[in-house]
Amino acid sequence: MPRILDGASIAAAIKHEVAEEVGKLAARGVRPGLAAVLVGHVAASEIYVRSKVQACADLGLYSDLITPAADVTTEAMLDLVADLNARDDIDGVLIQLPLPPQIDSKRLLEAVDPAKDVDGFHPVNAGRLLAGRPALVPCTPAGIIEILKRSNIPIAGQHAVVVGRSDIVGKPVAILLLHENATVTICHSKTRKLGEITRQADILVAAIGRPGFITPDMVRPGATLIDVGINRLTTRDEFDRFFKGDAKREAAFAKRGSTIVGDIDPHAFQVGGAYTPVPGGVGLLTIAMLMANTVRAAKLRRGL
Ligand code: NDP
Repeated sequence: MPRILDGASIAAAIKHEVAEEVGKLAARGVRPGLAAVLVGHVAASEIYVRSKVQACADLGLYSDLITPAADVTTEAMLDLVADLNARDDIDGVLIQLPLPPQIDSKRLLEAVDPAKDVDGFHPVNAGRLLAGRPALVPCTPAGIIEILKRSNIPIAGQHAVVVGRSDIVGKPVAILLLHENATVTICHSKTRKLGEITRQADILVAAIGRPGFITPDMVRPGATLIDVGINRLTTRDEFDRFFKGDAKREAAFAKRGSTIVGDIDPHAFQVGGAYTPVPGGVGLLTIAMLMANTVRAAKLRRGL
């Protein structure tokens, strides 16, 4: 039986450490603060941001939820970011993506003070990451490394194959794995003979955004499978493709009319030696690492 890499217990351990750190900072009169900016009403974004604000409350961080209207202009958003950059009670500025099309997202993300860039998206932090210098690292990739390390999965010398090259997940996780001395291959939509490459992976990271894209024949027996994808299934056909005969999923699907699958076909998990489930894997680490980054930013900004 493959081993399940339980995101919940790893995220809980990290949150516990963060809460301890928050307690120590409180004794010095410091309360780390996160500003979460949620533009408009995108259902998934609202859920994510709510969870982030709740995590702040649970761990003793201050949070400020700011909700500009969907028709906000780039200029107004730039003014807001300038204000947050200047506020001393704010250590982290999080702008929930995606933003409405009228907003120049790149310009906005570059306006965030790199010292408060808790998502690690600013080019300054991306550059520091590449150069192997201390940085605020994007949360999902940082969470993946935590899962591997805390599960005692060796990284050094292993062949890590990352499918996906986004600035948010694929590229930074590849760099982090390289810094951990893995031999890293990055694949994308133009990669030829993808299955031949993924079958060489000791560690396979899938960050593609396509339901169940990695099939059992693409996995080397015994490999560690890290599934970043979050894809919602709403049709019976899709459901049956991945979860036919799974009574627990069936009940949840009947109740909600949808379920979530990652970028790795759940049947492929059985070929691997260990895997992160969806839900219950990488996704839970993302918020834990956001909290860790906010506390880190609070300390770095004060030279602690
Ligand atoms: P993007 O859409 O930005 O990137 C997807 C990547 O997958 C691209 O590099 C693309 O290649 C590659 N790709 C697409 N199709 C193929 C294909 N047929 N073969 C090989 N590669 C392909 O997505 P993100 O990186 O933002 O997100 C990936 C997934 O992770 C999504 O499901 C997202 O919801 C999820 N996610 C989960 C998070 C979490 O907390 N668990 C956080 C962030 C994302 P190319 O560059 O050539 O187009």
